[in-house]
Amino acid sequence: MTERQAIVSRILNFSCVDGPGNRLVLFLQGCNFNCINCHNPHTINYCNDCGDCVEICPTNALSLDNKGKIYWDENQCTHCDQCIDICSYRSSPKVSQLTVSEVLFLIHRQKGFINGITISGGEATMQLPFIIDLFRRIKSDSQLNHLTCFVDSNGYLSRSGWDKVLPYLDGAMIDLKSWQQETHQWLVGRDNHKVIDTIRYLADKEKLHELRLLHIPGKSDLDDEIANIARLICHLPETVQVRLNAFQHHGVEGEALQWEKCSESQMLSFYQSLRPLIPHKIQLPSVYV
Ligand code: SF4
Ligand code: SF4
Repeated sequence: MTERQAIVSRILNFSCVDGPGNRLVLFLQGCNFNCINCHNPHTINYCNDCGDCVEICPTNALSLDNKGKIYWDENQCTHCDQCIDICSYRSSPKVSQLTVSEVLFLIHRQKGFINGITISGGEATMQLPFIIDLFRRIKSDSQLNHLTCFVDSNGYLSRSGWDKVLPYLDGAMIDLKSWQQETHQWLVGRDNHKVIDTIRYLADKEKLHELRLLHIPGKSDLDDEIANIARLICHLPETVQVRLNAFQHHGVEGEALQWEKCSESQMLSFYQSLRPLIPHKIQLPSVYV
């Protein structure tokens, strides 16, 4: 039987901001949201092999193979990102296809230095069968089963999807980008019914590690909807951490570059409105750049 593969845009051997402790993080290509304010817009779509980026590469790291598929030679790449800048399809040729065994090999190499692994994106759950196979094999490997398995997600996966991964999942970090349907639809291209259902469902299953709230002054509505947000959070276990993220311009393109960045004082004002309404731990951003 052929092994599951993932389309991977990046691997971080160590991260301390993608779940509890030190974690190896796998960023998967592809997302089912199309956020105006996306910080990694080149991770949204799978490459369509149009070849427009081939000629721009200064080191000849890109080519089209005899099947018309883009080929990226990582050894030739200087990571100048000119290919990403020229891609009008919000994609990247700099992805790798990794099997579950290849990822397990990387995890074995790091196992003495990490507390767990996190699958992020793009939207991690777009490649759910890979995640399930990977987590299942981590949990059944006597040298790896001390590692926790986390997912960082936009929360758009259905309950039946979550049910498939829950037996192997230790925790999830879920983003809530807006409260009102119209605002959410405008900001990400989809409504938030499934996101809010995911937050409640994972909390009910004791798998919600962190709820992330993105504050975009004057654009997202979380500050105007603080009472509704607090009501949602108050129904979650107090073990759920709330992380506040401040909108910045890093990686952003298009109209969102004209939007006001979230300053420390704006974030503190949001925090001070939320703090008295919920008993949960609230994590503020450590940097505003
Ligand atoms: S990365 Fe973008 S420009 Fe390059 S081949 Fe893929 S879709 Fe075309
Ligand atoms: S990032 Fe790498 S593949 Fe892309 S243009 Fe630069 S050298 Fe070429």
